[in-house]
Amino acid sequence: MSIPSLKTRERLSEVRYEIRGELARRARELEGQGRSLIKLNIGNPGAFGFRAPEHLQRAIADHIASTDPYTHQQGLPAAREAIAEFHRKRGTPNASPERVFVGNGVSELIDLSLRALLNPGDEVLLPSPDYPLWSAATILNDGRPVYYRCLPENGFLPDPDEIASLVSPRTRAIVLINPNNPTGATYPRELLERIVAIAAKHHLLLMSDEIYDEILYDDARFEPLAPIAGDLPCLSFGGLSKVHRACGWRVGWAVLSGDPLASGDFHHAMDLLGALRLCANVPGQFAIHQALHGEDTIRPLTAPGGRLYETRRALIEACEASENLQLVEPKGALYGFPAVVGDAAVGFDDHAFALEMLEHEDVLIVPGSSFNVPFRNHFRVTLLPEAPVLREVFARIERVLSRRADA
Ligand code: PLP
Repeated sequence: MSIPSLKTRERLSEVRYEIRGELARRARELEGQGRSLIKLNIGNPGAFGFRAPEHLQRAIADHIASTDPYTHQQGLPAAREAIAEFHRKRGTPNASPERVFVGNGVSELIDLSLRALLNPGDEVLLPSPDYPLWSAATILNDGRPVYYRCLPENGFLPDPDEIASLVSPRTRAIVLINPNNPTGATYPRELLERIVAIAAKHHLLLMSDEIYDEILYDDARFEPLAPIAGDLPCLSFGGLSKVHRACGWRVGWAVLSGDPLASGDFHHAMDLLGALRLCANVPGQFAIHQALHGEDTIRPLTAPGGRLYETRRALIEACEASENLQLVEPKGALYGFPAVVGDAAVGFDDHAFALEMLEHEDVLIVPGSSFNVPFRNHFRVTLLPEAPVLREVFARIERVLSRRADA
């Protein structure tokens, strides 16, 4: 007698996360067969030889003996105070430890906050391209993603008029990812002010994913949203994974700002959902104070001569030298998101291209359409490898694209 297959949640069929999807599975299979791959699919600093700063490791080691109990569902008081202080220094209004939520990475808090907010059929305005967890978490919490476009011809910046035109009676929130994954765009203050005005007019929650806030190149500036949002309810996300190269510790936070009276119910909902999962990973919370108030360890990596700076230069130079590639230079974050253009782009399919790069060139990249975009001629690479590795990757990319252009 055959055992019937278990049914799963139907809306999962709408969810994709190709950064760790089919191509990554195929890559593992090839590695199992002895192939040596260059995998640029995940923004995982530890996988490229980066280590979390020693003073953060020490902060955990020094406290490890006191990390066995659960903490408060919103996080250790001292960690929350460190985050609130960091936000107060930035000008976030009403940032107090009571309004800080520490989670198992920003990932958990994206899901938890959308669960706290949405009723079935509610709409969330998301950037396209997005970091696909935002779409997935919206869908799995019974919401509907509505995308505002961030087009390459506009430097991947959104058009506030378009955002305003997409607001409906069901809209509950506007999500921003700044600095952006996958595009590396950073949003200027005037743009943020216009988006805040839309949220104010329609009583929407502002949700700002700022996990790359301190990863900035050249003269790029990061403008935190919360100080601009003022009294409006705003949830700002940050964490240790990227700026502090500690993805595996699973430490992220969300700070609720604005007039407390306007977000009291939402605060309670977040607190309840936090309580249901008891608490976040405790050891990692002991590194938060040092991360936010200790030595700046990211700037040496993004400044001229630094490793991330040099790899980004290699990306820019490779795209400049190619007739087949066009790049909007990333101003922040850990990725390049080039477009395939010209003859090589005729009949181009980003997924087929990524598969060809994997099968024939031993390189794993992420097709641009994985980031919920309407176009199919982009791909994403992470800037985490050393510059010579990225140069080698782009030599292989060029080989494939030149063949296509000549065909
Ligand atoms: N938000 C963005 C824009 C990301 O790129 C990532 C991870 O790549 C996350 C959130 C999740 O980060 P965490 O490790 O804190 O869960």
